[in-house]
Amino acid sequence: MASLSLRNIKKAYGNNAPVIEGLNLEVGKGEFVVFVGPSGCGKSTLLRMIAGLEDITGGDLLIEGERANELHPSERGIAMVFQSYALYPHMTVGENMGFALRLSGMDKRAIKEAVGRAAEVLRITHLLDRKPAALSGGQRQRVAIGRAIVRQPKVFLFDEPLSNLDASLRVQMRIELARLHRELGTTMVYVTHDQVEAMTLGDRIAVFNAGKLEQVGPPIQLYREP
Ligand code: ADP
Ligand code: ADP
Repeated sequence: MASLSLRNIKKAYGNNAPVIEGLNLEVGKGEFVVFVGPSGCGKSTLLRMIAGLEDITGGDLLIEGERANELHPSERGIAMVFQSYALYPHMTVGENMGFALRLSGMDKRAIKEAVGRAAEVLRITHLLDRKPAALSGGQRQRVAIGRAIVRQPKVFLFDEPLSNLDASLRVQMRIELARLHRELGTTMVYVTHDQVEAMTLGDRIAVFNAGKLEQVGPPIQLYREP
C-alpha cells in the first residue's frame, strides 16, 4: 500500500480550457477514497493521470512521497480496473490473470502460484480454464479485479467497476470489494455514480465538480442532513 499526493494538479487537452485545475488531495496508505460527481467533470481523466495513462499538464503527483509525474505506468505500483472488463477474449481466465506477469518475465510456476492465490481470494478458482465469453458479468468483473490483484499493486484505481452489473450483482460485488479492502489493506481510489457504493465503501468521499474538488470528507459528514 502507498500514499498518494495530488498537488495543484492541472489537465488540459491540447489548447482547450483545462478539464482539471488546482486539484489537491492527500490519500493515506490503505485509505479507500471514493470520487463522485457529474459526468464529464474529470474523474476518469484524474485516474488515468494517476495510473500514468495520461500526461499531467501541471502540478505534482507523489506516490509514497516521491514525485511520479514522469514514471512509466509499469513502475508506479498501481493497477487500474475499468468499467468495461477489457479481458482478452482468446485467453482463458488464468491466462488473462497471468498475462501482465508473463510480460514482466516472471517464471511460469511463480505466475501459476500468484494466479492461483488471487483466484482463491476472488473465489474464481473453478473458472480459471474458461474463456471470458463463458462468464457472467459479475464473474468477468472478478477476473478483471483478479488481473489487477496478481500484480500486487500498492494502489488500486477503480473506474466505475460495477456500473455494468445488474442491481443484485452490484450489491454482492460491493460487499466483495469491501472484504478485499479489509483483507488486502491496499490503498484504493474509486470512481462511482452510485451514492450507496460511495457511502458504504469510502473512508472518505471526494465530491468532484467541473474539474475541482468541492468537498472531501467521511460519508457521515457529507451526507448528513443539513
Ligand atoms: P468523467 O470521468 O468525470 O465523466 P472525464 O474525465 O471522462 O469525465 O472527462 C472530463 C472532460 O475531459 C470531458 O469534458 C471530456 O470531454 C474531456 N476529455 C476526456 N478525454 C479527452 C480526450 N482524450 N481529448 C479531449 N478531451 C477529453
Ligand atoms: P503458455 O501460453 O506459455 O503455454 P499457459 O497456457 O500455461 O502458458 O498460460 C499462460 C499463463 O497463465 C501461465 O503462466 C499460467 O501460469 C497462467 N495460467 C493459465 N491457466 C491457468 C490456470 N488454470 N491456473 C493458474 N494459472 C494459469
